[in-house]
Amino acid sequence: MRIAIIGAGYVGLVTGACLANLGHQIHVWDTDIEKIATLRAGVCPIHEPGLERWIPQMQYHHIDEAPEFLFDAFYIAVGTPAKLDGTADVSYVASAARWIRMQQIIGRVQIIVIKSTVPPGTASAVRMIVGDDFDVVSNPEFLKEGSAMADFQEPDRVVIGTVEGKAPGSPFWVVVKDIYRGSGIAQCKFLSMTNESAELAKYANNGMLATRISFMNEMSRISNKVGADIDDIKLAVGYDSRIGDRFLNPGPGWGGSCFPKDVSALASMAGAGVGGTICYAAINGNRDQKAYIVRRAMGILGDEPGHVCVWGAAFKPGTDDTRESPALSIMERLRSHGYTVTVHDPVARVNIPGVTQCDDMYEATLGADLIIHITDWPQYRTVDWGKVYMRMTKGQGVVLGKRTVFDTRNVLDPHAVRQFLKLERL
Ligand code: NAD
Repeated sequence: MRIAIIGAGYVGLVTGACLANLGHQIHVWDTDIEKIATLRAGVCPIHEPGLERWIPQMQYHHIDEAPEFLFDAFYIAVGTPAKLDGTADVSYVASAARWIRMQQIIGRVQIIVIKSTVPPGTASAVRMIVGDDFDVVSNPEFLKEGSAMADFQEPDRVVIGTVEGKAPGSPFWVVVKDIYRGSGIAQCKFLSMTNESAELAKYANNGMLATRISFMNEMSRISNKVGADIDDIKLAVGYDSRIGDRFLNPGPGWGGSCFPKDVSALASMAGAGVGGTICYAAINGNRDQKAYIVRRAMGILGDEPGHVCVWGAAFKPGTDDTRESPALSIMERLRSHGYTVTVHDPVARVNIPGVTQCDDMYEATLGADLIIHITDWPQYRTVDWGKVYMRMTKGQGVVLGKRTVFDTRNVLDPHAVRQFLKLERL
């Protein structure tokens, strides 16, 4: 089949790559002329394991180029960032819909699949734009950056929202079977519902995950205050089969391109006459956690001007995405308090005035008083702590254990670290 994808970001490229893998012909459109040039040169503009090899298998076009063929389906995968009031900005989705409407032959029913995360009512707004010649399907994407290819190909479930809701009879159901034929997706659970339910389901999913993390981060702050160990609390709670042990890890706060904007959009929906407070609490708790990390770091450093080395800038391992990464706001706050800050990340680049990025994780620790471990990249778990100690003390042999590592993920081996350095955990 011939499939058009609008938006060459994480979701658009991964969707295209996985559909190319199934033998479909994929054409991707984007408004970003530099990104199109990069893709045409066969270079993947993002770090996503397994994606790179599929980049030359797709064709790329700037949005000003009209399609030369008819397409069996159009996937909309453009961004839906937060507006200043916290609600989702769907203007990119609307402009993608207008573009699709302009391209196609009137009188032939075609499929538009909305992959972007959009507020309830967006599919119907798109339908108003494109008219009756299109069947508008909501198919929210649940992939995780860092394992996006695998998540797309073997999802926990596929959510399909149509105007008919639970009675799947639209042309899309015929097409969808062909699109996914022969893949792991075809074997998984398809949940059919109305467009509005499918749209809200994606927000509910992210809202639930973010709230769990905010709750556990609050537990970690309480644990620290009362002398409890959050790792024990996590175990005790996680063994409850009603709760389960996923997404209970405390950390420096959630970030990335999705949770912050989606929870804020959900909070706006809940605030608009529904009387909801939980999403607001999750957002406030997340802000509190980042401030708490900075307070703890400053408490460790004392009044002296100090040098902080931050390990990890991406919002999670496996990606170069630093959007809303807690590492960024923690570094910015430390800089504003006058600390020297160096940072290392295996792939993500940082652009914060006054923060020095090092390509080598040991080099970043040279002369540092404190290391804050923020992103759980695997290489930080297998560190040569003797070498780190020598770098931090510049080989001058200060009192053993004076320099500190603050592990905001509680994953570093305490025994290994404490042979050379002081260790603080959540
Ligand atoms: P992104 O910012 O990486 O990519 C969006 C792309 O759309 C950009 O390249 C941009 O130039 C392009 N674009 C914007 N307007 C356009 C238009 N009118 N025509 C053509 N191209 C246009 O975004 P993303 O991370 O891929 O997310 C896309 C959507 O998918 C969002 O709604 C997001 O919430 C959702 N989503 C993202 C993830 C994720 O992990 N990144 C996971 C699930 C769902």
